[in-house]
Order: sequence, then structure tokens, then C-alpha cells
Amino acid sequence: MTTNRTYTMIKPDAVAEGHTGAIIKLIEEAGFRVVAIKKVHLTPAQAGQFYAVHQERPFYNDLCKYMSSGPIVPMILEKDNAVADFRTLIGATNPAQAAEGTIRKLFAKSIESNAIHGSDSDENAKIEGDFFFAGIEQF
Ligand code: ADP
Ligand code: MG
Repeated sequence: MTTNRTYTMIKPDAVAEGHTGAIIKLIEEAGFRVVAIKKVHLTPAQAGQFYAVHQERPFYNDLCKYMSSGPIVPMILEKDNAVADFRTLIGATNPAQAAEGTIRKLFAKSIESNAIHGSDSDENAKIEGDFFFAGIEQF
């Protein structure tokens, strides 16, 4: 099933450096509508739960530390072809390989501290969005 929603979060490095507004502006200018938004500070355990799919990867512990190092801004976004178009907007995981003009090219510092998340499938967009917003009415 294809949906028109994706899940994103502005990560601790970008929030701490004051890029939240600039990043949301790029997202809206690219045609995405913000359906749900908040600011939260995860515990390491909550970050570990969110990234459980990566628990066998060598960077998992560092990733959990990084993602709980400061506040993040989770959002649900809406647009036609949302998942794929948002992955294009944010660029490659490693900013050194991200295309010019992408959010990671503009704001990411490293392959770990890469400014922003984007779901990789409709199924994961639903799971990840529910992780932060389940039970809350979305507009
Ligand atoms: P993406 O966020 O582009 O979907 P992945 O799902 O592969 O990338 O990885 C999840 C997150 O884990 C990345 O966004 C990044 O913060 C971190 N990460 C990925 N690969 C590495 C790596 N080789 N070293 C350190 N951190 C990494
Ligand atoms: Mg991923």
C-alpha cells in the first residue's frame, strides 16, 4: 500500500545549532505539509527502541547516545509520493555523498550527525510516526 505520508525528525545536532526553522522552511518549500510536530528529548533507551532495527550494526550504541544527546523535532509530513520525495530532499546518509542543495548537504556534519531522518518505506513511516504521535489527533 502506498500512502502520502512520511515521518521525519530533525536530529540533535541540527536542533542545537538553531537550524530547525531553516530546515522546516525547506521542507515546506518542497511541497510537504506538516501534519504533526513536537520537540522531545529521548532517553538512550527510547532512542534504542526507535532504532531497534539497527541493533546489530556497529554504530548502534553511538547512534543511541547521539540521538539522546539533546532535543529532536519529530514530524509527520504529507505530500504525493512523500517517502521517496523526502529521501531525495534530505540526500544521502553520508553528507560527503549528498547531492548539492539537499538538507544533509547543507546542515549535516558527519555520517552519524546527519541533521535529519527520513523513513525508508510507507510501512516504516507509519510505525515511526506512531512511535511519537500514536493516539494524538493529526491534522
Ligand atoms: P538513513 O538515516 O539515511 O536511512 P540508516 O538507516 O542506514 O541511514 O542509518 C540510520 C542512522 O544511523 C543514520 O542516519 C546515521 O545517523 C547513523 N549511521 C548510519 N550509518 C552510520 C555509520 N556508518 N557510522 C555512524 N553512524 C551511522
Ligand atoms: Mg534509515
